[in-house]
Amino acid sequence: MTTLPSLPFDSPAAAHDLEVMRAQLGRDMRGVVSIARRCSCGRPAVVRTAPRLEDGTPFPTSLYLTLPWLTLELSRLEATGLMAELSARLERDEELAAAYRAAHERYLARREELGDAEEVRHVSAGGMPTRVKCLHAVAGQALAEGPGINPIADEVLAGIAGATELVCRCDASAETTSENATEAR
Ligand SMILES: [Zn+2]
Repeated sequence: MTTLPSLPFDSPAAAHDLEVMRAQLGRDMRGVVSIARRCSCGRPAVVRTAPRLEDGTPFPTSLYLTLPWLTLELSRLEATGLMAELSARLERDEELAAAYRAAHERYLARREELGDAEEVRHVSAGGMPTRVKCLHAVAGQALAEGPGINPIADEVLAGIAGATELVCRCDASAETTSENATEAR
């Protein structure tokens, strides 16, 4: 197993973060290991989860996007058929395909740092290594690892205003503090 550089934005998950994620997702986030990336206001944006949940279920998506506004933007993009377009480009563009495969390998190696779930050992997330099936999953990786790791996700995020730098739009979603509501304007 190759040793990877540490996740550049990783920070511990506090009890408050779990509450914020519950508000973001409308359910408890399971298998939380740490917060891999935060919104510019400090709330969780990408959560790092264990490869296996407490009940033993393998959980391959170990970098999980929780930020409501970005989740919604990506769902809107998915509805436009962008994933089919990106998957087709992967078939044509060898260089892009190689970089996307490397992102897949990186995903597996990163998850393996947290332990093994042999059922999903070769399964990463989002359709990697050859297809794009979930923009949320690939965006989770790109936001957690920083730019230059997942070219497809980097490109998708670059096309959404405020996504790369995670501009705070939390005031538009359920969990709001007075401090955030003024600051985000
Ligand atoms: Zn925010």
